[in-house]
Order: sequence, then structure tokens, then C-alpha cells
Amino acid sequence: GFAIQTEILTKVYGSGNTEVVAMQEATMNVSRGEVVALLGPSGSGKSTFLTAIGLINPPTSGRVFIGGQLVLEGSRAYTNLRAFRRKHLGFVFQKANLIPFLSALENVEIALEINGSSHRAARIRAMELLDYLGVGDRAENLPSMLSGGQQQRVAVARALANHPSVILADEPTAALDSQRGRQVMELFAQIAHEQSAGVVVVTHDHRALDVFDTLYEMEDGVIRKQSEVVAS
Ligand code: ADP
Ligand code: ADP
Repeated sequence: GFAIQTEILTKVYGSGNTEVVAMQEATMNVSRGEVVALLGPSGSGKSTFLTAIGLINPPTSGRVFIGGQLVLEGSRAYTNLRAFRRKHLGFVFQKANLIPFLSALENVEIALEINGSSHRAARIRAMELLDYLGVGDRAENLPSMLSGGQQQRVAVARALANHPSVILADEPTAALDSQRGRQVMELFAQIAHEQSAGVVVVTHDHRALDVFDTLYEMEDGVIRKQSEVVAS
């Protein structure tokens, strides 16, 4: 099945003389287990698209389906978006944005507790995730004690905490060197394949594109599928 489906998403900012058509009839279907890269120059509409499917910045028109469920039709929401986001979506940003006075473990636990986990269940799940992402040995450290790549792994653990069916990442490797950047991209592919999540990564980073199943290019608000790599 599909993790994400969009139908002819259009976004217009402003009106009259200041009108900007940031996204035009954008259509993308992402299967469960598929990892997609969205490329394109600055100002081409990538953030507009990502925040539309992230249920943060609704489109002007068009429909968004998550896990087969119609969630948005233009700015009309068919569910409580905030609750839906917390339950089904995971976000990773350019910077890890960890809470500086909480340990790596606590940063992941809090995402679980906000969603109703007990402290005990949160601790077990958070530790399991840090181990899975290769930073279990840094669980007790504050973010300032971790490298950029380690911090980003903790941020990915936090995004995965509530078993989201969709992971959205905005330039997640921008602050990393190419080796660490590649590791984080490989992690997204692994997560998509192992957890059957649909993953969309907006990136300028052309060094690790081989890890993606599908590449899309956005230009002047229009999305085109660039290529399809058949997973073996
Ligand atoms: P990208 O993420 O590819 O850099 P964006 O989605 O941020 O592209 O922007 C696409 C276009 O929409 C750009 O022309 C940008 O200036 C415009 N835009 C983005 N956000 C706003 C906004 N809040 N108000 C007006 N114009 C915006
Ligand atoms: P919380 O109340 O815990 O921040 P939300 O449901 O408001 O949770 O948001 C869910 C996710 O969406 C969070 O990871 C948050 O960082 C992201 N998010 C919410 N609003 C915005 C926004 N305006 N821009 C970018 N990301 C956002």
C-alpha cells in the first residue's frame, strides 16, 4: 500500500501582484518501504511540498492521503492534524534540535511520553532505538557531548519513536561531512525498508543518491520523477 499519496497539490502564497505559485499540481505516491529523495534548486517549492504532506502548511488545493486515509483536501482537514502528526509522522530537520539540558536518552523518551507512554515503556523503547541507530553507548550524554552525526542519529531515533508510517526529512545531512551524511542517508533507506515506512528526504546532497529507491526533481513548483531504481 501507499504511505503517502498526493493529488495535484497547488500552493499559492499572497494574492494579486504579490502572488507566488510555489507548487503546481504536484503528484507523488510513496509506497510503504520506499525511500524517496526530492531534489531541486532553492525556491523551487520543496519546503512547500514537504510541509504540505507534513500537515504543517496545507496546500491551496489538492488532496493528501496518509496510509490510504484522506487527511487534507486543500486547507480542509479531515482529522485533528496535530494528533495525526504525532501519531503517524516523524520529522527530521537540518539540525538535530535536541533539547540541550536533556540526555540523548531523555530526548527520545520525551517524544514517547508526550504521546502517552509510561516512563518505563518510554525508557525501554528509547534505549532500543538508540541501540538500533548505533548511539546506545551515548545514551547518558548531553547533546553537547555528541558529534553532529551522533546528534542527528538521536534526532532520527526521536522521529522513529512512535512508529510513524511516514518520515519526512528536510536537508538532514546539511550540517554533516560527506561520510556522516552518507551514513544518515543509509539509515533512512534502512528504516524505510525494515520498518515499512514511506520516507521523503529533501536534499541538495548529491553524494549519496544511490541509497534512494526513487528520485524526484522539483523546478518552479513542478515535481517530476527522475528515475526509478528497482530495489533488489
Ligand atoms: P524551497 O524549499 O525549494 O527552497 P520553498 O517552498 O521554500 O522552496 O519556496 C517556493 C517559493 O514560494 C519561493 O518563491 C518562495 O519565495 C515562496 N514562498 C515560500 N514561503 C512563502 C511564504 N510564506 N510567503 C510567500 N512566499 C513564500
Ligand atoms: P509538538 O506540539 O510536540 O511540537 P506538533 O504536533 O505540533 O508537536 O508537531 C509535530 C511535528 O511537526 C514536530 O516534530 C514539530 O517539530 C513539527 N512542526 C510543527 N509545526 C511546525 C512548523 N510550523 N514548521 C516546521 N515543523 C513543524
